[in-house]
Amino acid sequence: AQHDAAFDLKAHIRSVPDFPKPGILFYDISTLLRDGPAWKAAMARLADVVRPHRPKLLAGIESRGFLLAAPLALELGLGFIMLRKPRKLPGETIGFDYDLEYGTDRIEMQADAVAPGDRVVLLDDLLATGGTMAAGVQLLRKAGAEVPLAAAMIELAFLKGRERLDVPVQTLISYD
Ligand code: AMP
Repeated sequence: AQHDAAFDLKAHIRSVPDFPKPGILFYDISTLLRDGPAWKAAMARLADVVRPHRPKLLAGIESRGFLLAAPLALELGLGFIMLRKPRKLPGETIGFDYDLEYGTDRIEMQADAVAPGDRVVLLDDLLATGGTMAAGVQLLRKAGAEVPLAAAMIELAFLKGRERLDVPVQTLISYD
C-alpha cells in the first residue's frame, strides 16, 4: 500500500511564500518528514529511482540532502557520505568552489571517502538552479567517483536546473 501509485507526495509538501526572503516560494519537506507513512512512501519511490543505478555509495548535500541520503543508504544497504559546508569535516578534505547569484560558495568532502571509480549517487531535497547539485557532481568526480545519477525529491522545472547537469537527473515531483 505504501508503494501505491496514488500516493500524493505533493499533498505532503508545504509551500511557504517569502521564505527565507521576499519573492522565494520555499518548498518545505518538514511536513512530509513528520508524517511516518508519507515519509516511508516517498523514500520507497526514491529507492526505486536510485536502485537501478547500482551505486556503491549515496552522497547527501548538507543539510536536507542528508535526510534523504542517509536513510536511503541504510535501506539499500549502501554507504553514506556527506558533502558539507566548509570546515565541518575532520581530516583531509577536498573542496569545490562554485558561483552563486552574488558571491561564491564551497562544498567539501573527506578526501578518502571514495575510491577511484566508485559509483556514487548524489541526493538533495530540491533541484532549483542546479548550481548546488552541479558542484556536488564536480566535487565527487574530483575525488575520483563516477556519478551515474543525481536525484532530488523536488524539482523547480522552470529554473531548468537539469540543463546545468551532465549526469542523468531524476526527481519525484516537479513544480512549474
Ligand atoms: P540550486 O543550487 O539553485 O539548485 O538550489 C538548491 C539548493 O537550495 C537545495 O539544497 C535546496 O535545499 C535549496 N533550495 C533552493 N530553492 C529552494 C526552494 N524554493 N525551496 C526549498 N529549498 C530550496
